[in-house]
Amino acid sequence: MNKGLEKHGQTVAMVPSYVTGVPTGKEVGTFLALDLGGTNLRVCLIKLGSDGNISIKQQKYKVSETYKTGEARQLFDFLADCIDKFLAELNETDKRSSSKEGKLNLGFTFSFPVEQTAIDKGNLISWTKGFTCAGAVGKDVVFMLQEALNRKGVPVKVSALVNDTVGTLLAHAYKHPKTLLGVILGTGTNCAYFEKISNIKKLQFNSNAEHMIINLEWGSFDNEKKVLPITMFDNKLDRESNIPRFQIFEKMVSGMYLGEITRNVLLNLIDRKLIFDGISSKDFNTHYSFETAYLSTIEEDDSDTLENVRKILEEELNIPSTTLTDRKIVKRVCQIVGIRSARLSAAGLSAIISHCNVIETGCDIGIDGSLFEFYPAFEARIKNALREHFGSNADNINLGLARDGSGVGAALAAMLSVK
Ligand code: ADP
Ligand code: MG
Repeated sequence: MNKGLEKHGQTVAMVPSYVTGVPTGKEVGTFLALDLGGTNLRVCLIKLGSDGNISIKQQKYKVSETYKTGEARQLFDFLADCIDKFLAELNETDKRSSSKEGKLNLGFTFSFPVEQTAIDKGNLISWTKGFTCAGAVGKDVVFMLQEALNRKGVPVKVSALVNDTVGTLLAHAYKHPKTLLGVILGTGTNCAYFEKISNIKKLQFNSNAEHMIINLEWGSFDNEKKVLPITMFDNKLDRESNIPRFQIFEKMVSGMYLGEITRNVLLNLIDRKLIFDGISSKDFNTHYSFETAYLSTIEEDDSDTLENVRKILEEELNIPSTTLTDRKIVKRVCQIVGIRSARLSAAGLSAIISHCNVIETGCDIGIDGSLFEFYPAFEARIKNALREHFGSNADNINLGLARDGSGVGAALAAMLSVK
């Protein structure tokens, strides 16, 4: 963290967000948010009421492989299309209240590493999470989105660019004033926190503000593979990934990868004839066929016969036959992969809490993402690890689900930027 605060281009990039304001919960107005997360694209219309009330209308769209791996211009045209469609579908009352304000301000949650130079300017450093669109790295993503909107004549101004961690932090802070960290545990993983501007040595910034939100980009922690306990199964995943030797921490923690790590371990056990009589299936031999959601279902299965585990292995993945012992072993492997992910996340949180020196005073942490929301015991496992690290002081740390925080947060950032 200290290296990244001092200099540009460090492994943990410590990206300044240019968000210095904190929402007070008293803001009003109508804002659009566009959230490009990795798996889903969401367009939201967010109304901040005077009394801390938030109303949200939203629509989800799936980003197809074609858009993820094609030309950048096509991806951004697709984003503009979704906004256009969403606005067209709004009912009349929504339309009237949003058009009163002229061009709608949009907060763009863009959850990829960006070197930001202003609240509404940021160049893409690199793609992650399976995206590889040509013609985007090094370019300003706000400019690209604005151009796409202009090409279609959509009356929207992109006024803030935020990372999903920053959005999550803002959204959680709107309701919980002691919020210090925003965390994503979804397709990918990352974290943002409030830092003293005087500590951000690399930043040239004239302002009276005291704090700025920093996006760690912690997914790339230990890309050098020097400190994390990396296994042969992690190395196999990394080697076969779109960008090897990159996002090493994320590849051990986040939803996109846990299923594949588990599959790698199980393939090894199959080859050693320790499970399934040594017999795999075409489906199970396919990359990423073992979904992270399966880990959740498997860990939740407390039946004597592990019936849901059997269903996944035999019916979804077409393994010819499994014994109860096989299924117990599979469940245990899922537990180990899941526990490791939660404990590594907790290690990251501990580092930031220690850096900010707030363990005595305590803090709130807002967490968004399906992994945190749906994986059984993920929160309890983080809590256990924090207790091991901080002892009973860990009770001063409150974890909270900031569901859809990145959407609301983008709207809040748009609001703060026009305020
Ligand atoms: P994004 O990160 O794109 O904003 P999400 O927060 O919804 O989207 O995270 C999606 C990821 O969460 C998927 O990659 C998947 O691996 C994981 N996931 C989805 N459902 C579950 C589940 N039931 N248990 C564990 N992980 C899940
Ligand atoms: Mg998300």
